[in-house]
Amino acid sequence: MPKKSKVKYIFVVGGVMSGVGKGVTTASIGKILQARGFEVTAMKIDPYVNIDAGTMNPTEHGEVFVLDDGMECDQDMGNYERFLDRDLTADNYMTTGSVYLSVINKERNLEYHGSCVEVVPHIPLEVIGKIDKAASKNKAEIVITEIGGTVGEYQNILFLEAIRILKLKKPDDVLLVLVSYLPQQGEGGELKTKPTQYAVRTLNSAGIQPDIIIARAGVRLDKKRKDKIGFNCNVREQDVISAPDVESIYEVPLNFEKDNLSQNILEKLNLKSRGKNLREWQRLAGIIRKAKKPVKIGIVGKYFGAGEFILSDSYISVIEAIKHAACALKVRPIIQWLNAEEFEGAKSASALKKLSDYHGVIIPGGFGSRGIKGKLAVIKYLRSNKIPFLGLCYGMQLAVIEFSRSVAGLKNANTTEIEPNTPHPVIDILPEQKKNLTEKNYGGTMRLGACPAALKKNTIAASAYKNFLISERHRHRYEVNPKYIEKLEKKGLVFSGFSPNRQLMEIIELPKEKHPFFVATQFHPEFKSKPLKPHPLFREFMGAAVKK
Ligand code: GLN
Repeated sequence: MPKKSKVKYIFVVGGVMSGVGKGVTTASIGKILQARGFEVTAMKIDPYVNIDAGTMNPTEHGEVFVLDDGMECDQDMGNYERFLDRDLTADNYMTTGSVYLSVINKERNLEYHGSCVEVVPHIPLEVIGKIDKAASKNKAEIVITEIGGTVGEYQNILFLEAIRILKLKKPDDVLLVLVSYLPQQGEGGELKTKPTQYAVRTLNSAGIQPDIIIARAGVRLDKKRKDKIGFNCNVREQDVISAPDVESIYEVPLNFEKDNLSQNILEKLNLKSRGKNLREWQRLAGIIRKAKKPVKIGIVGKYFGAGEFILSDSYISVIEAIKHAACALKVRPIIQWLNAEEFEGAKSASALKKLSDYHGVIIPGGFGSRGIKGKLAVIKYLRSNKIPFLGLCYGMQLAVIEFSRSVAGLKNANTTEIEPNTPHPVIDILPEQKKNLTEKNYGGTMRLGACPAALKKNTIAASAYKNFLISERHRHRYEVNPKYIEKLEKKGLVFSGFSPNRQLMEIIELPKEKHPFFVATQFHPEFKSKPLKPHPLFREFMGAAVKK
């Protein structure tokens, strides 16, 4: 990084409606600028009062993503890490709640030296301070900040105010990108620009003007539409970037470059390109486009339903990790949602039978008792019928319970999370967690973030990682009860990964002779998988699935 270079700030805000891909847009802008030779970091601001995303139900807000340092944050942070191939920190994430909390703490510490602390300017100034801190922590030359929500909501007004103040202070260093949506009237009908015009007016009334408009739509924009948006929204036609729906999100940076977005941004920020290299990314997108051989993967979960809709967002990192591994193997993943509760009750036998159609099944993390019976039935079926299985966090705990009951003869073995009085608490609460629960100290208190683990020689885990010491991200309160380890091992369960002091079990597996792939982890490998560096366990799992 050249000395004394100033930080440049890019803000991404959304117009018209939510869910049009602001997160992927932010990550993709980061990618194309990184490809120009700049050190880029990305941040997310969530406009809710929660201090972090840890206490939110995934059906409300999608997956809770976990960083190395244990920050529980929005799923978009996962997109940033995946696109930028950088491990981000808690400084890259803030919420309305966390901003107010730091202002209030500062006030209590007399850091405002007796002055009256007010929503404006102190809240927006705190936001700017946090952005600067993240930029410096990440040694970034460009920091891209995505503001959650949609312009026009009350919730994010103070963040728009932060943009206004920063732009006033540093007019040459701030760039505002509006991600808008153009609805289409009927199939083949006209793309309508009026909602975007309203969104820009709303920004104008907050004292700011977008420099670039990313026009999300079902199809590419024609020149006429670009002209119209440009004319009515005070930007040049070349500042309107077409962002049509794409089959793979990894196409988005390439699409942006079709409209010369990185060059445009660099010019606006007075930065000189240091070359251009998106080759690896192009190769990746090419493989995804061309891959034909289908591999059918089932994900058994319960955080799908929101009214009539299926929300795959709850497991977004799991889905992406499957795609990364599929890409490395040049196969086309077909991911299907399997509702855990369908494997319970009268129709369970026929539902279970259908599992044989899958090349592999994943049971991801979760909490509480709903759907547990079904997940246990699924694990039993996968184990007995030698269908590749990958269990993640709760998925591992349930695999231990199933093995205890069916193979080790521990009748009614359970986790104390759902049956505190089980005769065989094979999964039990971590000792330091008991206090948190009795004191109702729920937020940010699980075993969180990166922890080291040692691997056992000659296991699937060790051969996948090609390493004996690993670091993976966690988010749980319960663990394998050490009292049962010997017994389970004697019955053939292999504990192939454990904390370096051997107290906490991190990976279980069945030997290759017994099952083609039966592996489960207490940690969340999905959080560390990157498009060009698929996670070793996902890669092995997909490999086994391809073989089936
Ligand atoms: N509910 C389990 C625990 O708290 C698993 C958590 C998870 O899957 N993330 O330990």
